[in-house]
Amino acid sequence: MSFLGENPDIAYPLTAAFGLVMGSFLSTVVTRLPARIDWRNRRRAYAFLNQSDVYDPPPPDVLTGRAHCPQCKATLAWHERIPLVSYALSGGKCRHCGQPIGLMYPLLELLTMVLTVFSVWRFGFGWQGFGAMLFTWYLTAASLIDIRHGLLPDKLTLPLMWLGLVASTDNLFLAAKPALLGAVGGYVIFWFVGGLFKQLRGKSGLGRGDYKLLAAIGAWVGVGMLLPVIFASSVLGLLIGGAVWALKGRSAADPLPFGPFLALAGLLIFMIGPEQIQIWLWNLRSSLGG
Ligand SMILES: [Zn+2]
Repeated sequence: MSFLGENPDIAYPLTAAFGLVMGSFLSTVVTRLPARIDWRNRRRAYAFLNQSDVYDPPPPDVLTGRAHCPQCKATLAWHERIPLVSYALSGGKCRHCGQPIGLMYPLLELLTMVLTVFSVWRFGFGWQGFGAMLFTWYLTAASLIDIRHGLLPDKLTLPLMWLGLVASTDNLFLAAKPALLGAVGGYVIFWFVGGLFKQLRGKSGLGRGDYKLLAAIGAWVGVGMLLPVIFASSVLGLLIGGAVWALKGRSAADPLPFGPFLALAGLLIFMIGPEQIQIWLWNLRSSLGG
């Protein structure tokens, strides 16, 4: 790590390339994980109905499955999987079936690269920088799956929470106590708000995935930042959700997923730093005459 820290001319391009590769991996997670979850749910349903012999081939495994075209399922060679480059060379089309691959792939690769480089720029080439990368990768994948499927997989939210708690045992970003209380508090606050909302409106506005995502974010930013995260995500949700509704004319019965706003708010507060947010809040309080 110290070699990278002392040679930024090499370290930043390497990190950028690493971010692109990671972005390519995240696109695999985003497309395959929901399909795997669906398949596992179907298997469970078949087993429950005593129809375990129904033929239902498993979709490719997230980690071990070969890379393939999302449209024609043709297996891709290594030179068809180079982040950005392959997309640019093929004109955004599959070389086997000629169908458009989708702008999500290069955009996700670029976004992951930017967030990965930003993580080490903000926290340095060390465990903190690496921890920040993990935080951004998990939040990016979870947000995209929530946008596309209205689902926040446990396979993303729970490991993110455990990673934050483990990091706090070594005081990586914060001490163990605020991290643990942040995780527990995040879940409990949303469980309470979600229950209240259900009582008042007769339908749930928050899903259990949102409870777990706030718990995960709480483990990384601490219990003191839970209310700022909730506040910031609500403001972002109102602004961006309002804009989307104005543009697309969505009805209120079809609400936007809340996960991406939580993730964005958590990421902003994590990158700015809880200490800095505390100072802003303290200044705000004293300027209001408190
Ligand atoms: Zn194809």
